[in-house]
Amino acid sequence: MRQDATAADIRGVVEAVEARGYRAHPIPGAQRTAIGITGNKGAEEAPVFETLPGVLEVIPVTHAYKLVSREVKPDDSVVRVGGVPVGGPELAIVAGPCAVESREQLLTVARAVKAAGAQLLRGGAYKPRTSPYSFQGLGEEGLKLLAEAREATGLPVVTEALDSESVELAERYADAIQIGARNMQNFSLLKRVGRARKPVVLKRGMSATLEEFLMSAEYILAEGNYQVILCERGVRTFSDFSRNTLDLAVVPAVKRMSHLPILVDPSHGTGRREKVAPLSRAAAAVGADGLMIEVHHDPNRALSDGPQSITPDMFEELMRELRQIAPVIGRRL
Ligand code: PEP
Ligand code: MN
Repeated sequence: MRQDATAADIRGVVEAVEARGYRAHPIPGAQRTAIGITGNKGAEEAPVFETLPGVLEVIPVTHAYKLVSREVKPDDSVVRVGGVPVGGPELAIVAGPCAVESREQLLTVARAVKAAGAQLLRGGAYKPRTSPYSFQGLGEEGLKLLAEAREATGLPVVTEALDSESVELAERYADAIQIGARNMQNFSLLKRVGRARKPVVLKRGMSATLEEFLMSAEYILAEGNYQVILCERGVRTFSDFSRNTLDLAVVPAVKRMSHLPILVDPSHGTGRREKVAPLSRAAAAVGADGLMIEVHHDPNRALSDGPQSITPDMFEELMRELRQIAPVIGRRL
């Protein structure tokens, strides 16, 4: 739409789109509102929309993914999680334990990461574990503890949902819903969070191409939830010195193709505590909008992902380093 398009102009286009049996997705941006159209057959109707009041131009989107593409929305999206912006000039740091284990554990870690400057708290109440005998998470009890930790620290909460039942609960207790790597192509789950009223952190599948990653995000936007944050967490390669290979090159690639913000998770991306800080610094340098980092006050006794969890002291040191890096790359922290 033109920069001076009115709310009535936008409504007029939405109505014209819907009258043809298509779906309209008005996506407000910094400069102008873009209206994505899905469900249409081809570009032959472009002239019909082009003549409507307030319309600047009609751009046929050439990629399979549409709403996530920069063709539909040229400027960066900023997604707010409980008021914390992800995708703007500020680096967003999400930190916390892999799993919520107990009140004492969660509050200890939450207070430590808050003191060090994290803006968001992470913690899993539903854990997708490789083994059915591993700790599966505290379920709703864990979500209640996360809500309590938010009360205590003021940090908005990000937590994973595994199915429609946990989405419903996460929607109620948390500020953002995480879809894990193992569920990146669980299309019914993607459609479900597409109807959620909370932002979604979508993690890259462990063998997903960039196009598959963006198509999964498209599922969520296509249902009307435009508050999607991507997260690179490493992919499987032949490399055997780390749990996964953190694909930092995907960050500038995403930035070129999509307006969505992207976080980097160097914890799952490396699987080793000593690699988390170096890869965090690299992620910030390569243009990530923020980091997701696993922190535990007693990692050797953690119920999940202890070997990749850093201590509060290590986290504090990392935050100091990131604060020095941020201004050099035009970011704030
Ligand atoms: C997690 O964040 O704890 C997690 C399970 O991540 P991923 O889905 O990336 O493995
Ligand atoms: Mn984990």
